Amino acid sequence: MAALLRRVACTALLRATTQARSSYVAPAPHPGALSAMLIGTCRTKKTWPVSFSQEELKQRLTPMQYHVTQERGTESAFRGEFTDHKEDGTYTCVVCGAPLFKSGTKFNSRSGWPSFFDLVKDGSVTLADDFSHGIHRVETTCSQCGAHLGHLFDDGPRPTGKRYCINSASLGFQGSEADAVATDTAATTEDGAGGGAKAGGRPASTVAPAGGKKEL
Ligand SMILES: [Zn+2]
Repeated sequence: MAALLRRVACTALLRATTQARSSYVAPAPHPGALSAMLIGTCRTKKTWPVSFSQEELKQRLTPMQYHVTQERGTESAFRGEFTDHKEDGTYTCVVCGAPLFKSGTKFNSRSGWPSFFDLVKDGSVTLADDFSHGIHRVETTCSQCGAHLGHLFDDGPRPTGKRYCINSASLGFQGSEADAVATDTAATTEDGAGGGAKAGGRPASTVAPAGGKKEL
């Protein structure tokens, strides 16, 4: 009798579980599954929303910036200018100025390259399979202009567990304070009081959407 009751209870429980499952809204895909989806959808992507002529990029970028972003190069470990960079602000694509990473998600991976555990926003970086050097890695590129950035690994810290391993040469930086100063300067210039600053001229700023960095 007890066994029968237990069986009836189990059946009821199973039915309840099944019903609950059928009306259950599917959860967001597992991060790993999401990566696979992104990889699958992005592999065939050939065009980018923003493009620049190679001649312009050769003039505007340093040889290392050009090599890394346009020829999928890799800078030497511990040599990049942003590896130990700790200022507050936003890391941008050096080619098109798109915001990519916040300083708050930067961490010391001891890899020798700037490392981040999250993006400024979903979709700012495009993922693709990379089988170069006889190993499988996930390449990261800027979703705006297709510049090569680095690679993505699954050994990052919480909460994402991701490690975006990025070449310094692919990045620009907009400091939080510099941002505020730039805004002030722009306002002053519009009033006509900042003529000196304006006379300095920054023709490149009209080309680069980020506009904040002179030397990149
Ligand atoms: Zn870009």
